[in-house]
Amino acid sequence: MKNKDKILVIDDQPANLEVLVSFLKEHDFTVRIAENGKWALQVLETYQPDIIILDVMMPEMDGFETCRRIKSNKDTADIPVFFMTALESVQDKVAGFEAGGVDYITKPFQQIEVLARLNAHIALRKQKIKLEQQKDLLKMISITDDLTGLFNRRHMNTVLEREFGRCLRYGTDLSCLLVDLDHFKRVNDTYGHGFGDIVLREFSQSLATSIRVTDSAFRYGGEEFLILLPQTDINGAIQIGENIRRRTENKKVVSENISARVTLSGGISSFHHHQPRTSKEMIHFSDKALYASKKAGRNRMSVYG
Ligand code: GH3
Ligand code: MG
Ligand code: MG
Repeated sequence: MKNKDKILVIDDQPANLEVLVSFLKEHDFTVRIAENGKWALQVLETYQPDIIILDVMMPEMDGFETCRRIKSNKDTADIPVFFMTALESVQDKVAGFEAGGVDYITKPFQQIEVLARLNAHIALRKQKIKLEQQKDLLKMISITDDLTGLFNRRHMNTVLEREFGRCLRYGTDLSCLLVDLDHFKRVNDTYGHGFGDIVLREFSQSLATSIRVTDSAFRYGGEEFLILLPQTDINGAIQIGENIRRRTENKKVVSENISARVTLSGGISSFHHHQPRTSKEMIHFSDKALYASKKAGRNRMSVYG
């Protein structure tokens, strides 16, 4: 069985290093060494081992201090530190754990015991990393709309509250653009629901590339989308809305033997211009304006009021 887990061994005694390194290599670990704490911290700037074996008694910076520095750097804080030392008093062991170590073994050591402990810590860390990744993935899924990949409505509420709160506190501006694809039911009825989905997806992609990184686009409902524009006044919002409207109008959606164009209608409200009292009211203003666009013939943007 190939074991390519990476270990950094820090010890100032070449004789110790030699024994340990050859033992670890026999068990197929990838090993790097550092002969003092300073050197080790330098190695860690570019090297991410799965575990660190650390001697305590070293000149200049001892193992405890080295460990504290590893733990106080966010790039290395998660790497388990395994103390291996000739110091065997309870106080030293406690100091090792207090410095952030996960384990402590005294020299001379039994090789198979070291091996078993190293493997246990490495396996635990891998599990932890996997859990973190799953957590990130779940978080992502919980804020993303399946079909379009845009943020979903739940996340919209979170972001809207946050941005609205920022306006109240700092007096900054915020604009809210609500858009709805025109006669979308007809698109489904004419070309099928599958093609309708493709239109929604392509529109969403186009929308995501039409806005700045500080802006956010959400799927508000079926074929309705909300775009939040922080630090954007009414004139900026009209420009962006018009740009989105034009891009949509000019884009042909093609799939297999179907080719179609869609248009959209939009409604705009802006924090300083309309002075909504709540974020809900802001959406309500945009919705009113959207309704006006529909009534006036669609494929247009309207400002509330
Ligand atoms: P209007 O211009 O007044 O907005 O007309 P409309 O036909 O777009 O509006 P209406 O609200 O009558 O119809 C919306 C349509 O959008 C009906 C619904 O089936 C469709 N729709 C909603 N969500 C999806 C979806 O996820 N995929 C597809 N393909 N269609 C959807
Ligand atoms: Mg519609
Ligand atoms: Mg609609």
